[in-house]
Amino acid sequence: MNPSLEGVKNSLYSRKDPNLTAIDIEAHAEIIYNILKLKTKHNVSMLGHNYMEPLVFGLSNSKEQGDSLGLSIEASKTDSDYIIFNGVPFMAETAKIMNPKKTVLVADKSAGCSLADNFGADEVKALKEKHPNIPVMIYINSYADAKAECDICCTSANAAEVAESMPGDEIIFVPDIYFAENLERELKGKKKVIYPGKNNSVKGAICEVHEQFTLDDILAIRKSFDIPKGHPNRMMYVHWECKPEVLEESDYYGSTSQIRLNIANRVKEGTIERVFIASECELTSNLAQEFPTVQFSTACSVRCSHMAKVSLFKILRILEAIDSGKDLSEWEVTLSPETISTAKRPIERMLSLSS
Ligand code: SF4
Repeated sequence: MNPSLEGVKNSLYSRKDPNLTAIDIEAHAEIIYNILKLKTKHNVSMLGHNYMEPLVFGLSNSKEQGDSLGLSIEASKTDSDYIIFNGVPFMAETAKIMNPKKTVLVADKSAGCSLADNFGADEVKALKEKHPNIPVMIYINSYADAKAECDICCTSANAAEVAESMPGDEIIFVPDIYFAENLERELKGKKKVIYPGKNNSVKGAICEVHEQFTLDDILAIRKSFDIPKGHPNRMMYVHWECKPEVLEESDYYGSTSQIRLNIANRVKEGTIERVFIASECELTSNLAQEFPTVQFSTACSVRCSHMAKVSLFKILRILEAIDSGKDLSEWEVTLSPETISTAKRPIERMLSLSS
C-alpha cells in the first residue's frame, strides 16, 4: 500500500526520539514519502544497517534492519529484483554474493571502511605463505576478493564457535587486530590465533570507530552515568571491535544484533533501566527508538564517517533512476562470477555451522 505524506508525518511524529524535532520532521517528511512511494512501486528491498541514522534506518521495515550478514540472508528471501543496501559497499558485496541474480545498489560507492580498505587478498596470501596449512578465518567486514582467499567467514556474533569448528590447534584470523586479540581471549587457549602483525610483517586493520573507546572513557562513563559494574539493571555494552581492555570492562560484549537481543530480553524480563553502548552512535539512536522504556545514556560523538555518506537524497536518486529506467551503474555493485563463487564458499561454510 502506498504511504501518504500525512501518514509519513504522523509516523515520524509518533517516534519517541528526543533528537527528532518538528523542524526535522517537516524538512524530511516529503523526501521520505517520495522514497517510500517508489520503494513500494518497484517492490524494492531496502536493507538498513544498524549504524544508519534513524531517518534512513526507518526506511526499512523491521525484517530489513540488522547487521550486514543478517541483512544479506534476509535479502535472499525477497522476490524483488532490486536490493538497495543502506550501508557501505563491502556489505552490499555480501548481499550480491548471496543474491547474484539481483541488482544490488548502494547509495555511495566511494564510502569506505578502515577495516576492509586496509586489508585485501595480497595480505591473506602473505599470511598463508608465512603460516602454511593453517585454516584462515575472515571477518565478514572485508571485501569479496579477500574473502575469496579464505577458508571460512565469521561475524562478531559467532567468531569463537566458527574458530573452534576448524581443524587443528591454530587458526589465522584476519583482518581486525583487536578482534583477533578478543577472540584469543574468548578461546581460552583452546586454539592459537595467528593474526596480522603477530610474528609476521603483514599489516592488519582496526575499526576507526570502535578504536576510539578507551578504558578511561568507559570508567568515566560508568561514573558519570552511574552504571556500576555488575549492577543488576544497568548495563555497559561493548562491541567486539573495541580494544581488549574495553571489552574486559563491559557487562556484556557482542555484535550489534547480540546487543539488541540482550536488551530486548532484558526489557521482557524487566531487568534493564539504563545502558551505555560503546559502538557507533546511531546504533544507540535506533535502539533508543525501539526500546523507549530504557534510558540510553549517550554523549556520543563516535560516528562512522563512511556509513554517514548514505543520505536520504542519495537514496531517492537511485529510486528515481529505477523509476525512469536510467542506467544504474553509478550505484550498482558488480562482482565477477568467479569472485562470487569463490567468496561464497567461506560464507556458506560459516552458515552451514548454524543450519
Ligand atoms: S563502523 Fe565504519 S569503519 Fe568500523 S567496521 Fe563499520 S564501516 Fe568499517
